Formats: sequence, structure tokens, C-alpha cells
Amino acid sequence: MTEALLHPDWRWPALVLNADYQPLSYYPLSVWDWRQAVKAVFLDRVHVLSEYDKVIHSPSMAIRLPSVIALKTYIAPPERAAFTRFNVFLRDGFTCQYCGSREDLTFDHVIPRSRGGRTTWDNVVAACSACNLKKGNRLPEEAGMTPRQPPREPSPWELHAMGRQFPPNYLHESWLDYLYWDVELEP
Ligand SMILES: [Zn+2]
Repeated sequence: MTEALLHPDWRWPALVLNADYQPLSYYPLSVWDWRQAVKAVFLDRVHVLSEYDKVIHSPSMAIRLPSVIALKTYIAPPERAAFTRFNVFLRDGFTCQYCGSREDLTFDHVIPRSRGGRTTWDNVVAACSACNLKKGNRLPEEAGMTPRQPPREPSPWELHAMGRQFPPNYLHESWLDYLYWDVELEP
């Protein structure tokens, strides 16, 4: 479990699907805490597809906490992927683009900033700290270190597909019918 899910509010998270029954996001997986989910149910903004056994009571009624909900109104995915540190890591599969390591990941400017390189999709890659240090302020050809894939801006769909390679630690069994990952899940 991630730390966020250990907080009491996160004990009954609801998987949130778009109106097409696809998760809003695979990684991080789109989940709401139970308060958000219950509020959306009362506002009639979601269909409840599955519920936990847990029941909460108010003075006037009882409700089973939803475990899977789907939005009634479709939210169109963004047209462009947000340029964030997380999304750069996701694009690069959380692997160093020089040696393939998954440890001690940092960001490397392919063309160093000191040499005029910009902080953009096509000039920033995931790199382990050892490779980052080794490359230093050199150009790829000077260092003999070229990214495995030429960095470029991914489409939102490509990021979505990458996210499917990273199942989260916490999964309620009721979620599995709605999720498709590219790797085998632990039984
Ligand atoms: Zn490396």
C-alpha cells in the first residue's frame, strides 16, 4: 500500500471510471477517497458499479461505500500531455535512458543547460544519478552517451499506455474487472 492509502480517509477508496468505463488515469490510478465518492453519489454525478461491505450511517439513512464508480458525463482526455517531472519519468518507463537502471533516478538535460539546452520534452530524460554525474556538462557526442530513445513529447494516449505497465500496490478485487495491465498481477 502507498502511504496515502494508509490514512484513515483512504481505507475505502473508490476506483473512478470515465463515462466509457475506462479509468480516468492508470498511473497514478484514478481513485477518490470515500467522502468524495459518497458526495458524487448524492450529487447524482456517478453510477455506482460496485460497493464495499462497509456501511456508513447518517441520522436519516445508511449507505454502502462505493468501490467502483463511473462518471455520468464523459471527460475528454487532455489534448497534450502535461510536461511534469512525473510524466517525464512515466514516458521513460522509470528507467535511466543511458544505462537502463531504475535506481536513483534524476533528470538529465541531454544538451546541458550551460550549453543552451532547454527544459522541454525533447531535451529532458530520466537518468540515474551515476549517469547524470558521469555525463556532466558534456554533449551526448562528447560524453559518448546518447539516450536510448530520442526524447520527444508523448501523446496523452502514449502516457496512458505507459501507465498500464505499472499496476499500483493497492487494488480492491472489485476493481479488477475494469482494469487492464500489460503485466501479470500477483495472485
Ligand atoms: Zn544510468
